[in-house]
Amino acid sequence: MNADTVPPVTVTTPRSVERLVQGQATSDGAGVKLTRVLTQNLQRRLDPFLMLDAFATENPGDYIGGFPDHPHRGFETVSYMLQGRLRHRDSAGHEGLAVPGGVQWMTAGRGIVHSEMPEQQDGAMEGFQLWLNLPARSKMIAPWYRDIAPAEIPEWQGEGVLARVIAGATHGVAGAMQREGTEPLYLDLHLAPGAAFEQPLPAAHNAFVYVYRGELAMAGTLVPRRRMAILANTPGSDGVTLQAGSDGARAIFIAGRPLNEPIAQVGPFVMNTQQEIFEAVQDFQAGRLG
Ligand code: MN
Repeated sequence: MNADTVPPVTVTTPRSVERLVQGQATSDGAGVKLTRVLTQNLQRRLDPFLMLDAFATENPGDYIGGFPDHPHRGFETVSYMLQGRLRHRDSAGHEGLAVPGGVQWMTAGRGIVHSEMPEQQDGAMEGFQLWLNLPARSKMIAPWYRDIAPAEIPEWQGEGVLARVIAGATHGVAGAMQREGTEPLYLDLHLAPGAAFEQPLPAAHNAFVYVYRGELAMAGTLVPRRRMAILANTPGSDGVTLQAGSDGARAIFIAGRPLNEPIAQVGPFVMNTQQEIFEAVQDFQAGRLG
């Protein structure tokens, strides 16, 4: 797309920051240490997103156990690597290697069993796993998987800003993935010192930003490193503006259209009712998930 054909972006009524979230240190899989930033109590508030885990360590003992075979049903997982390598294998026959700058997008749908194991003995491991809900009508679709290489992620460059567009669109650049219904926006923002970025966004879409390098300011609120800012759904707002601090910043920016459907979760299964969860557990125990 030619720059002349892209209308200028102007956010005139930016959202404020509703609250900052530190996340909870926990472990998952076979003892992988991580920070659960989007926890279960925020699922309603950040609908359609169900979970965000951030992992960042240079200690192999924190990640070497990986995530051996485990099931999922009813949603999608989006894994974004910054450092390190994870091998994915699943019961639908997909295999892939997550590498720095790459994304793995997996639709669990009616059921999948997969593993995500480190393909390194030492060095740093850093990245994110986001869980994106599926609409009730799509929870039992066939499993799907896509390995997105770093070069397949479109980028937008502005003044002091690089936006890697994993999903949705920014400034006329369509991302690697699009989803109807939840309309997810997933950006990885690299900001030079003092650089500003703006993103139009419907006021009803839920949105949050997680800073993983440096710090940034949003509508008068300072967002330090390793904090998630939940953005207010300010009525009449038309988007988000942010500005990096004096050391620059890197952050993931995530937004989506809420489903406003009941959420029932037990561990790796996210459905709409307890009965559907009961069925998922039964199906898994009977070997019908993968
Ligand atoms: Mn998993």
